[in-house]
Amino acid sequence: MKIHLRQIQADGLHLEGEEDCPIQDLEKEDVSCTGPLRYSLDVGISEGALWASGRLVQPVELKCVRCLEPFPFDIEVKAFSLHLELTGPELIDLTPYLREDILLNLPAHPHCDREGGRVCPAPAEMGAGVPAAEKEEKAQPDWSALDKLKL
Ligand SMILES: [Zn+2]
Repeated sequence: MKIHLRQIQADGLHLEGEEDCPIQDLEKEDVSCTGPLRYSLDVGISEGALWASGRLVQPVELKCVRCLEPFPFDIEVKAFSLHLELTGPELIDLTPYLREDILLNLPAHPHCDREGGRVCPAPAEMGAGVPAAEKEEKAQPDWSALDKLKL
């Protein structure tokens, strides 16, 4: 995503749209892009620096580390923020910065139940794979024995 400094007005510039997925080289690491990068950014110039802030969403397919099945996931950068000293070129490529923040928000050990909201078909081990809601129910204290005592 390239921005020319002349595009940016004094009161800043709002950018919204789609770009080619910037992490297409991660296929062999079981991260495949399933759509374009969606962005909504505010860009401005102040005191010799370019700043940008906003939100990024990159839909991908990840591979669950337990069942090894692929599942869809949106890598979301909720608060992308960039401050870049302007040193020369008037055409600035934001892609490396977008890529970096997307990679930071990529789950290192994706689980299809945790990140994908599915029930992982891999054999359960130590309660893993149990949906969070069920775990909470089980954590509730069981008062039935006490109730019987009162009677
Ligand atoms: Zn799984």
